[in-house]
Amino acid sequence: MPANPSLSVVVPVLNETEIILESLSRLDTVLASLTGGFDIIVVDDGSTDDTVEKVEQWIDAHPQVRLLSLSRNFGHQSAITAGMTVAKGDFVAIIDADLQDPPELLPDMVTQAQRGYDVVYGVRRSRDSKWYKRTAYWCYYRLLRVVSEQVIPVDAGDFSVMSSRVVAELNKLAERGRFVRSLRTWVGFKQIGFPYDRPARAGGAPSYGIKRLFQLAATGVLASSRLPLKLAVYLGLGVSALGFLWALKILLARLVFNTAPQGFSATMLAILILGGAQLVAIGVVGYYLGRVLDQVEGRPNFIISRTVNLPDTKK
Ligand code: UDP
Ligand code: MG
Repeated sequence: MPANPSLSVVVPVLNETEIILESLSRLDTVLASLTGGFDIIVVDDGSTDDTVEKVEQWIDAHPQVRLLSLSRNFGHQSAITAGMTVAKGDFVAIIDADLQDPPELLPDMVTQAQRGYDVVYGVRRSRDSKWYKRTAYWCYYRLLRVVSEQVIPVDAGDFSVMSSRVVAELNKLAERGRFVRSLRTWVGFKQIGFPYDRPARAGGAPSYGIKRLFQLAATGVLASSRLPLKLAVYLGLGVSALGFLWALKILLARLVFNTAPQGFSATMLAILILGGAQLVAIGVVGYYLGRVLDQVEGRPNFIISRTVNLPDTKK
């Protein structure tokens, strides 16, 4: 690693007209202190407002800023993925445009990386958001930790600084339905958390509603774990065992006490419980099958429609 490493900053952006310029100017001010130089890659994830026009105007006066526009909205994770494929710095940072990841932390994160860490990831010490969202996030990260095959750090998002070799490895992964923070853990190398307090959005509205947050949460579990499949097996075994015990009870009643169980409710109960368990298990398999289908179809994670200041990329 050179003594003065350069930094590429990837900023995924969807309809951030209210804050994009503030965000770029704060990044500019902070990054100017880096002696190795920097560039900023704004990934426009299908914005429909005037975010792109604002970025282009900014680029006129700031040649170190680049624009990569995707052909439609592919989602935050795909936008990050796209940005990483064109990031050429010795280190690559991922940061949200809404200033929830404070740009001012980047120089310290780079310094930390220079001490020999390939990944320095932000860990949210606190969050400025509603209590129910905080609780949901808290539970989710711990659940993810329990189910995932690698130890995914809790409360760590995509905000990070990575070495170019980690980015090169991530770029090699052809996985669809990406959950970047889990892949980032998977590639290994030396990684360390960087605690920070996560402020509220500086302006505009989050584009991820409850539905998309749940989708992202499900992607996270499916991409990091095969445990739900095993649980389906355990569920099946458990229900079968109960059924077996029940059958034994009926047999005993018949042989020893010469009585036969009667009743509609017992039958219904058995049918409902069994039916439910079967449907749940099929659903779990279905989710994984969906991922397999995505993978087999082999469509790209994103399509680039236009670039500015990115000479190496096909337009
Ligand atoms: N974003 C994106 N594509 C999307 C949704 C969001 O590129 O489909 C960007 C958004 O502009 C922001 C970052 O990803 O820079 C995080 O989005 P948001 O603030 O909505 O998510 P949250 O902070 O609630 O996780
Ligand atoms: Mg945000």
